[in-house]
Amino acid sequence: MATGQATRRAGQDLWLAAPICACLLGWQAPAAEPRAPGIAALSPAAAERVADRMRMVEEQIARPRDGRTPVTSAAVIEAMKTVPRHAFLPPASHHLAYVDAPVPIGHGQTISQPYIVALMTELLELTPGARVLEIGTGSGYQAAVLAQLTPHVYTIEIIKPLADRARSTLDEQGYRSIQTRRSDGYFGWPVEAPFDAIIVTCAAGHLPPPLWEQLKPGGRIVIPIGGPRETQRLVVITKTAAGERQSRTVTSVRFVPLTREE
Ligand code: SAH
Repeated sequence: MATGQATRRAGQDLWLAAPICACLLGWQAPAAEPRAPGIAALSPAAAERVADRMRMVEEQIARPRDGRTPVTSAAVIEAMKTVPRHAFLPPASHHLAYVDAPVPIGHGQTISQPYIVALMTELLELTPGARVLEIGTGSGYQAAVLAQLTPHVYTIEIIKPLADRARSTLDEQGYRSIQTRRSDGYFGWPVEAPFDAIIVTCAAGHLPPPLWEQLKPGGRIVIPIGGPRETQRLVVITKTAAGERQSRTVTSVRFVPLTREE
């Protein structure tokens, strides 16, 4: 990925979408076709806001015209078209669900910009049976996107009201197989480890050692590294078959911080 371009364009800074005039030919409402066993079925709200979602994917993710690197994984694009992002936002923010920006979800937290959700999901390189752990459930949206790709999704949220709300949203939207937990994600989820992939959706000063320990050889972690009041680096850390650590920086991002239990 061209880091310079992505650095300029891919961050989570609020960035208002240019006037939208996309031609919507060539899309179809998601079909209610049978899915692979365990993969989330279409949720009740998936039939709503379909045109908005197609436009979001087209203009922000698959064919962005502003220099950011397109997301090309067909499975990720399908997942982004399928999950009803508005259903994960407070009703007062429904009108912001498909704009090219993060959106507040209460308690000082935000649901990430759609492009960042897609990019991080692609970087995980999930295989259909992969076990994936998310740190920072927030609204539950990212977890739902992951559940379109694998039935084995585990997600941890530190703020109880957010964890509770995400659980009920996920239940309402038919994502009952996603395992949720309220705790400090710094420690991962030892009894469910090891994981093929770990995604951290809050910024940490360093990779929490328990997450590294809970990663399978051959697995990968996608995490924003950096301090709370600065631009952070989105890093992909892989564990080789021999257990060695390799990392690469993909782009610059801005995330809310990973906080710790008092
Ligand atoms: N992935 C979310 C957005 C994440 S915002 C979504 O799709 O909506 C980051 C989230 O990380 C916030 O909800 C914040 O409360 C949570 N968080 C911060 N520190 C954490 C920790 N130590 N363990 C678990 N969650 C944490």
